[in-house]
Amino acid sequence: MNMALDSSVLVLNRLWQAVNICTARRAFSLIYSGQAQVVDASGGDYQTFNFDEWKDFTGVEDGHDYVHTLNFRVKVPKIIVLMVFDKLPRKEIKLTRQNIFLRDKFECQYCGKKFERNDLNIDHVVPRSRGGKTTWDNVVCSCVRCNTKKGNRSPEQARMPLMRIPKAPRPRAFLNVSMSRVPHDSWKTFVDVAYWNVEVSD
Ligand SMILES: [Zn+2]
Repeated sequence: MNMALDSSVLVLNRLWQAVNICTARRAFSLIYSGQAQVVDASGGDYQTFNFDEWKDFTGVEDGHDYVHTLNFRVKVPKIIVLMVFDKLPRKEIKLTRQNIFLRDKFECQYCGKKFERNDLNIDHVVPRSRGGKTTWDNVVCSCVRCNTKKGNRSPEQARMPLMRIPKAPRPRAFLNVSMSRVPHDSWKTFVDVAYWNVEVSD
């Protein structure tokens, strides 16, 4: 058993966005078949390597693990970038209270002020009583005061224009896993820790 082959490798898509984490074993198979290249920053800036280049690359000794074969040893990559379009399904973002708050940045869409989660309501722009649906383009977060003031009216009727036109957030191709810490410094460029630590449960 080679533990190094079980270590985690960050997978970037062709736009260099973090989309996945795989095992080094899987990463090697992607690199070997030409579907991915290694990304290495040990030289100061980011370089990419195909399998043969990587095999010959010594770079800086920086605590990489190695996999030894009969003929050579090869560093276990920490990041790979896909050469092909990944077929990861883009995740539609669920219409949950929390996701609405996140989209609207916890700002009341009528007065523009920021609030704690508990002081925010979900407001139907076109009220439900007037046929308004619970859809991304018809719900916004609103403070209790604005929500009450608006009542059963549309923004036009209430003369309370919206800060932003609500719409569905773009489906995320990005990685959506929670991790308490980023395992390698080299990942940090690609991983928005703040975002990853956002609680998405609703
Ligand atoms: Zn408000």
